[in-house]
Amino acid sequence: MNITLSANDALLVVDMQNDFMPGGSLEVTGSDTIIPVINTYIHRFNSAELPIFASRDYHPADHISFIDQQGQWPPHCVAETAGAQFHKGLQFPDSTIIISKGTDREKDAYSAFDSTGLIKILHDKAINRVFVCGVATDYCVHASVKDLLIAKDFTVLLLTDAIKAVDLAPGDGDKARAELKALGAIEITLNELI
Ligand SMILES: [Zn+2]
Repeated sequence: MNITLSANDALLVVDMQNDFMPGGSLEVTGSDTIIPVINTYIHRFNSAELPIFASRDYHPADHISFIDQQGQWPPHCVAETAGAQFHKGLQFPDSTIIISKGTDREKDAYSAFDSTGLIKILHDKAINRVFVCGVATDYCVHASVKDLLIAKDFTVLLLTDAIKAVDLAPGDGDKARAELKALGAIEITLNELI
C-alpha cells in the first residue's frame, strides 16, 4: 500500500528510552537497531511540518510496577535519571511533544493515552491519522495503538520496521500485531511511505 503524508497526520514514537535499550534495566532485545529507521520517519514528518510525539515511561522511584513494590518489572525509567532519557541516537526536533506516562506512584500506564491528555491534544490539532513506532510491540505500543483504535476517531498505521517486541513468551509480539490488525490497525513499512 502506498501512503502519502497529509496535513492531519502525526507520528508517535513510543518509549525509546535508555532503560529499554540494550544494557538498560529492562532491555528490549534489538531495540537500538530500529533507531535509524525511526530517525527517517522523524525526518519525513518534520520536513512535512507534521507533529511528532514522543512518549516516555516516567516513574517515581517507588513505582507500583517495580518488583520492590510487588510489581512485575525491575526498576526502570525513573524520572530524571539517565535510564528515563531518550536514546541519544534519536534525532527528535525541538518541536517534539513529550508525553510522560506512569507518573502516578499507585498506577501503571502502558498506553501513551492513559491519563496523559494526548487524545485531546490530537483532537485539538485536528489529527485523524497516527503513525506509531517504538517499543515494546507487545506492551506499550500495543496498549497505545489499542487506545487509539478504541477512540474511533483515528486511522492508525503501525510502522512494522520500527517496532520491537519483548517476547517474554515467544510469539507475544506477533500476537500483539495480529490483535491490532484485527482491531483495524494498518501495517506499513518505510518503502510504502511515498
Ligand atoms: Zn514502566
